[in-house]
Amino acid sequence: MRLTFLGTAASEGYPDAFCQCSFCARARAFGGPNLRKRSAVLVNDDLLIDLGPDLIAAAQIHGVSLAGLRYCLQTHEHDDHLEPHHLLSRSRYCAVEGVPRLHLYATAGALTAAARRLPPRIVGAGLLDPEVGERLNLTAHVVAPFQSFTVGPYRVTSVRAAHDPENLIALLYVIEHGGRSLFYCTDTGPLPEETWAALRAGGHRFTLVAMDHTFGLKGPAAGHLNADQFAAQIERLRAEGLLAPDARIFAHHIAHHANPDHAALVEIGRRRGYEIACDGLIVDV
Ligand SMILES: [Zn+2]
Ligand SMILES: [Zn+2]
Ligand SMILES: [Zn+2]
Repeated sequence: MRLTFLGTAASEGYPDAFCQCSFCARARAFGGPNLRKRSAVLVNDDLLIDLGPDLIAAAQIHGVSLAGLRYCLQTHEHDDHLEPHHLLSRSRYCAVEGVPRLHLYATAGALTAAARRLPPRIVGAGLLDPEVGERLNLTAHVVAPFQSFTVGPYRVTSVRAAHDPENLIALLYVIEHGGRSLFYCTDTGPLPEETWAALRAGGHRFTLVAMDHTFGLKGPAAGHLNADQFAAQIERLRAEGLLAPDARIFAHHIAHHANPDHAALVEIGRRRGYEIACDGLIVDV
């Protein structure tokens, strides 16, 4: 399984274009892996996690084609993860030809939020309507937490995140393919106990984990992880027997206000036993 990080920042990008903090200034000066777009990843060349706002820029900058995309797993509907106008960009409304049908997996809430942001004349009846599906070359599927389902060649399991529970249901995904297993684990705070129970019951052995590192060196805050919480979650994954012996762990969804430059982060991660994702990074597991 090949994972390509298309973006690794939290909601405002890193650097935040409007920010004069020292971390943003250093990121602009250093460039390279310090420049982070909003979070999204590509699995092999056909499965996307999150229809994020920076996909077009990511595809151009990192030389990645999304023309072969067949599946998209949506974690939740926050703006930094869901830009539904991409559904138009890959449709005949933008004169796109020859693209495969896209199967979009999302909560009912995320599908509703996506439709609300699109022109009513195109998606008036909602993304689950077959006519709308034909118009957009799209098949939408409703996903709830704690389901296992087949997505093309992948086995996917959804679990519940600890993220903005007053307003939405946020999902984390386990993706299995060819005997390898990816746990995509942002946006979330420390995992809910029901999620730990489901992961244990699933008998998972993750070979790759991409986990929320939003609050980095700051104190804990709701709905995301800081570095200490990140390390504690990894320790628990290991203690629960959920990590393969050769598992690689990546910090992901990195906020400018709480995380130093990439080289400094790499050193922090090295001391604690994890790696730091950066935009364009390709990981084969
Ligand atoms: Zn986010
Ligand atoms: Zn900043
Ligand atoms: Zn979010």
